[in-house]
Amino acid sequence: MPVKVLDPKIVSRIAAGEVVERPASVVKELVENSLDANASQISVEVRGSGVSLIRVTDNGVGIPSGEVELAFDRYTTSKISNLGDLESILSLGFRGEALPSIAAVARVDIVTCAVGESVGTHLILADGVVENRESYGRSPGTTVTVHNLFRKVPARLKFLKSKATENSHIANVVTQYALAFPEIKFALFIDGRQTLRTPGNGQLMDSVIEVYGVEVAQNMLEIKNRDGGWEGRAEVSPIRVAGMVGSPAISRSSRGYLSFFVNHRWVNSRLLARAVEEAYHGLLMQGKHPIAVINISLPPQQMDVNIHPTKTEVKFSNGHIVFTTAQKTVRRALLEQVPVPKIEEVATAYTSPPPLGQALWTSAKSGSPTTSPPVSSQTPMVSLPILRVIGQLFSSYIITEGNDGLYLIDQHAAHERVLFEKIKQQRSQQGVEVQGLLEPVTFEVNPEQEEVLKSNYQKLVEFGFSIESFGDRTYLVRAVPALLYNKDWAGMLRELLDSLSGGGDWAESIAISMACHSAVRAGQILTNDEMRELIRQLEQVAIPNTCPHGRPTMIHLGLRQLEKEFRRS
Ligand code: ADP
Ligand code: MG
Repeated sequence: MPVKVLDPKIVSRIAAGEVVERPASVVKELVENSLDANASQISVEVRGSGVSLIRVTDNGVGIPSGEVELAFDRYTTSKISNLGDLESILSLGFRGEALPSIAAVARVDIVTCAVGESVGTHLILADGVVENRESYGRSPGTTVTVHNLFRKVPARLKFLKSKATENSHIANVVTQYALAFPEIKFALFIDGRQTLRTPGNGQLMDSVIEVYGVEVAQNMLEIKNRDGGWEGRAEVSPIRVAGMVGSPAISRSSRGYLSFFVNHRWVNSRLLARAVEEAYHGLLMQGKHPIAVINISLPPQQMDVNIHPTKTEVKFSNGHIVFTTAQKTVRRALLEQVPVPKIEEVATAYTSPPPLGQALWTSAKSGSPTTSPPVSSQTPMVSLPILRVIGQLFSSYIITEGNDGLYLIDQHAAHERVLFEKIKQQRSQQGVEVQGLLEPVTFEVNPEQEEVLKSNYQKLVEFGFSIESFGDRTYLVRAVPALLYNKDWAGMLRELLDSLSGGGDWAESIAISMACHSAVRAGQILTNDEMRELIRQLEQVAIPNTCPHGRPTMIHLGLRQLEKEFRRS
């Protein structure tokens, strides 16, 4: 075939494919336009999973009547005007592609009135061509209605997923922007049913309540908005991290609850996801992911949003600084605010409180409300107060007294935390204590375990195991970490190899597993000296109030609460 110039209609349809992939992309582009127009209210309505109808209404600045047609031409925008502007983009749109792209694959109806103009404009476009124009009375703002999306692009239609899936993509777009802009009132109607409404009062907490519900919201910790970036060094890092993160008690099994915004632009960012997950290091169980709503503010020159057609990815010029700032800020918020669970919270906030301990406090709990108190009343814990050991309960819990009440400590969980920190420290200093076995012990593995063992052999060595192949899926173990000598290290190894066949952070898992297998057990009687020593060690660690699996090591009964309980009835 000879090379020839494509018909403009075909060109615009091809180009539309980049921006308008599915109904949710249309919603995203229109909502972004409303946000760029400084709207304080944005309402989104969809029918037939967005294929029959998408309508976005805002009370923003509107389009002047002389520019409405122009806005539907390719590469026309009011947001940037020269090459320099492209370096410092603060608006969500800037390419002038969305309206023409949408109009190329649907029938579009727009009613808009610019601030300062007495009458608005109503324009109808079919296949990107203006069909009708008239004057129209309305208050400032814009309503864009998109009918019959992709009707003339059957390939796209075929590519769409079920109605429920497309609706959930649409809901996700509106939800994310509702979280990014708590000062804006958002409403979403799907097939006539209102599925989201935010108050627009500027309180992120209120948007989180609408999106995730009260229970999650109660467990969200605020990231203190520190001007000037990490440790206040504005001249070094003008990056600001703000938002909320979930306490480790409300983790999720997917990454779908991580929302990131950069200068309020909703982005997918592996870098930020990793930074946040690292901040939860040692606070969440394996396979669990946090909930987070985080906005990063930084000078627009320090990032490039022009790297992806849908503008959902950004490139930071100083990725490692963004990473470290996000990781440290979130980590600090967590360490400062992760609460020691109060007696009345234990049942609601955590799944595995010690059963005997629960029985002990049943009477104290019965009269109190069942919902957790708001976050602000929880005890921040950076380090433990000095604790005096009173005794042991059920051979499993250490009763101690601090200056602000009673602390009941789970001896196994507490020891796990102490050992976990110690193991990690020894390894980082390459000072793991090793104990040679009197005679080598054979250790057999199944094929799957062998694969895991082979590929992670070096890590085991770093942690103090000396293992060599003896052929036929049999290994000889000559030395083990000193902590595990006299313990069931073979059982631990087997468990570890099984748990890691699906991947994961090996070093972390070995440390957790070693701590768990070498810690004192529940049911083990401890002498007063042993208890005192354990508490003293617990006082030294960075996160004394959770074990490495993220479960609480202690519960706290404040003096006030104790008095209240006794005056009840
Ligand atoms: P971009 O957002 O990249 O500028 P669009 O094609 O999305 O490109 O929009 C083109 C222009 O139309 C915008 O630059 C803006 O001036 C105008 N516009 C679009 N939607 C709205 C709206 N809801 N309110 C006010 N102006 C709008
Ligand atoms: Mg736009």
